Amino acid sequence: MLKDEDRIFTNLYGMHERTLAGAKRRGHWDGTGDLIKRGRDAIVDEMKKSGLRGRGGAGFPTGLKWSFMPKESDGRPAYLVVNADESEPGTCKDREIMRHDPHTLIEGCLIASFAMNAHACYIYIRGEYIREKEALQAAIDEAYDDGLLGTNAAGSGWDFDLYLTHGAGAYICGEETALIESLEGKKGMPRMKPPFPAGAGLYGCPTTVNNVESIAVVPTILRRGADWFASFGRPNNAGTKVFAVSGHVNRPCVVEEAMSISFEELIDRHCGGIRGGWDNLKAVIPGGSSVPCIRGENMKDAIMDFDWLKEQRSGLGTAAVIVMDKDTDIIKAIWRLSKFYKHESCGQCTPCREGAGWMMRVMERLVKGEAEVDEIDMLLDVTKQVEGHTICALGDAAAWPIQGLIRNFRDEIEDRIKHKRGPIAAE
Ligand code: SF4
Repeated sequence: MLKDEDRIFTNLYGMHERTLAGAKRRGHWDGTGDLIKRGRDAIVDEMKKSGLRGRGGAGFPTGLKWSFMPKESDGRPAYLVVNADESEPGTCKDREIMRHDPHTLIEGCLIASFAMNAHACYIYIRGEYIREKEALQAAIDEAYDDGLLGTNAAGSGWDFDLYLTHGAGAYICGEETALIESLEGKKGMPRMKPPFPAGAGLYGCPTTVNNVESIAVVPTILRRGADWFASFGRPNNAGTKVFAVSGHVNRPCVVEEAMSISFEELIDRHCGGIRGGWDNLKAVIPGGSSVPCIRGENMKDAIMDFDWLKEQRSGLGTAAVIVMDKDTDIIKAIWRLSKFYKHESCGQCTPCREGAGWMMRVMERLVKGEAEVDEIDMLLDVTKQVEGHTICALGDAAAWPIQGLIRNFRDEIEDRIKHKRGPIAAE
């Protein structure tokens, strides 16, 4: 279990002051100027050494991503963009950081921007996060007033401006290139890659897009050292991690824990167990709505990290853990996700635009049992035609939950179809 003194987010529950004074009392903004004076290469190297992998879902090594930015400017400015769009169903971890511990993020923006030669950073916050936007903006204003942002930010010698932009509530704007388009004032539609943002991102300039949590952990990693951060979790899955547990547990919560914690410990220690006991666990979506579900009996000993969950053909994603007990109509639950992805498709590529709607309509019939058994394989085949054949990952996100359903609960889908046809067909 993660000890209190090892928590990066000391006010995740909003029990203490979120003001600058409160944040400073908890150790944030301590010697920030000196951290920056270590130099760009030293900071990037320390991040690489820490083993931090992006907390927004993909799990790409953060230090490595930073190193893709040009070392010398060719005349164009560089930008850091923080993805605070957090719209994946089940995911609500960055929200707690922004409304209760905003200075962790702001300090991280300054240090990370310096490390990538950026004098400006944009935080793009989800449209529905109105109170979070207010809290974050108030914290940014405080930091400016205290000289922590602006000219010679935090006495570092680095001039730095931080802007907060409010989205309009489209899920697709959480995709990094759609987010950039939206920041530029255009419709939030993903771009074809390459070019990647590190080459041509915001306004055609070198840009890195990072998740809120990935940036907010940076100052503490630098203060306490890469080895400290790497001491949590299994190799290649380093660090502490904010988990958001929802669904059929006794006490849903958002909690910072050590990476690679077992699912059982996470649930028993922080969530008061599964509703109705462990035998009542049916399925878990371990990383936000886009990753495939895993059957309950395979979850008790689960290791909650990138590699273990990938081996189970699922994923840690955003670490939004959705727990479903045996009262759940799992086919209907996955249909609801299909409906979400169909609604959020931006429509610019055919497999996603047509496929997401097609898959949702078949799922609708499976919920009612009004389908042929053969159609299960046909649906699976369509998910394979969508997966990997689209401009952005929304196509995959629409396909994977259905693949997980069929892989794990085919018997239930078939039973429903047979029962719908009456007792003779069901025999
Ligand atoms: Fe748009 Fe879907 Fe294509 Fe992504 S995969 S670009 S959301 S149509």
